[in-house]
Amino acid sequence: MSVNQIVIVGGGHAAAALCVALSEAGQGHRVHLVSEEQELPYHRPPLSKNFLKKLDETIALHKGAAWYGEQGIQTHLSNAVVRIDRQAQKAVLRSGVALSYQHLVLATGTRARTLDALPPFLTNVHVLRNAEHARSLRTRLNEMVAAGRHLTVLGGGFIGLEIAASARQLGLDVTVLEVAPRLLGRSVSVQLAEHVLVHHLSMGTKMQISAHIENYEVRENHLRSIQVNGNRMAIDELILGIGAIPETRLASDCGLTVDNGIVVDACMRTSDPAVMAVGDCVAFPTSDGGRIRLESVQNANDQARIAATTLLGREERYAPIPWFWSEQGPMRLQMAGLLPPSFETVRRSGTNASSFTLFHMVGDKLLCAESANAPLDHMMSRKLIETRVTLNPATLVDHLIPLKSFLA
Ligand SMILES: Cc1cc2nc3c(=O)[nH]c(=O)nc-3n(C[C@H](O)[C@H](O)[C@H](O)COP(=O)(O)OP(=O)(O)OC[C@H]3O[C@@H](n4cnc5c(N)ncnc54)[C@H](O)[C@@H]3O)c2cc1C
Repeated sequence: MSVNQIVIVGGGHAAAALCVALSEAGQGHRVHLVSEEQELPYHRPPLSKNFLKKLDETIALHKGAAWYGEQGIQTHLSNAVVRIDRQAQKAVLRSGVALSYQHLVLATGTRARTLDALPPFLTNVHVLRNAEHARSLRTRLNEMVAAGRHLTVLGGGFIGLEIAASARQLGLDVTVLEVAPRLLGRSVSVQLAEHVLVHHLSMGTKMQISAHIENYEVRENHLRSIQVNGNRMAIDELILGIGAIPETRLASDCGLTVDNGIVVDACMRTSDPAVMAVGDCVAFPTSDGGRIRLESVQNANDQARIAATTLLGREERYAPIPWFWSEQGPMRLQMAGLLPPSFETVRRSGTNASSFTLFHMVGDKLLCAESANAPLDHMMSRKLIETRVTLNPATLVDHLIPLKSFLA
């Protein structure tokens, strides 16, 4: 077994992007990819969108099996890494195989948050993180349509809202329960959250905000009802869309520093120089001396590219302009940058009532932009944030910015 091997733990977006970057540098033959899933790395975003709505929609792989073979990448599917021996530089697989490594990259993503109050394995309670979840949820949703049953979504975050919109488009009766006083509390501005609420109401979804769940009635592995703000509500099927927890167990078990994510430097190195980490499982340094963990495809792809650079012996630091998208029925949201603690907002309306952009500015600088059905604004905003150009809010509103020069 070669000692200059790179072992990638995880088979998601970050792992796929790292395989591509290393292959492009002619290093594919050094790579072992270990994933506990049975599929090769695939695109996760469609799982809450088109995949749920179309019975014939298949999982979209990043690369097919032949590509991994051509690059010399050895894949170990349905076979998790269960232990890392940092002293011996070995990753121990569930199958008992021990892979030696010169470099190990943790790309373990997140797992769905669940509720302590609910026993596991209830037959009508679902989460959505992977292809297996999506397949069983899609089957269930289609059975529910035929039986005229009701779906309850707990959590008004991105994934919960995307599932709610997909289920409505399938024709299901849907209620979303959000414990906070607004939707998407952690991620978007109050103005955008209000628009999202109106959008879901217009789709016919029942929305209950500030919904406090007081108790759960469980019988025979089935959640029968819940009590919300004093009222009992029968449950046919419940989706838990209450966020994700970084998958850091392997890292903490082998003594790496973990603090709401595996702690890395700007080059994706953990506290052990032979071990790197990328993607949703990572807490990385910000320019103001803080630390942040992001859950997005952009973050996974860009961190993988930086990790490849580090593995190839060059230094590039991760300093992203984060961006994200979400599709909730006919509404496509796109966000660029991060919301600062305080800001002034300039709204630009698009060609119809459902299309607009909220430009969030601090002084004459654009720090964050939230677009609904306005993809050109989103692309422009990413450039404006990145280049830190001085802006007059009036020019944003009056369409005076020469879009093409920013997109060139
Ligand atoms: C339903 C859904 C919809 C989404 N929609 C969007 C969207 O619209 N836009 C957007 O930007 N982002 C979206 N995201 C988020 C995006 O998919 C994630 O940010 C991205 O997948 C993160 O990539 P990752 O490689 O860090 O983790 P993941 O893609 O989660 O991959 C982690 C992998 O590691 C494996 N693993 C974990 N532990 C081990 C182990 N010990 N051994 C072996 N394998 C292990 C897991 O099984 C998994 O395959 C969505 C996510 C979901 C679940």
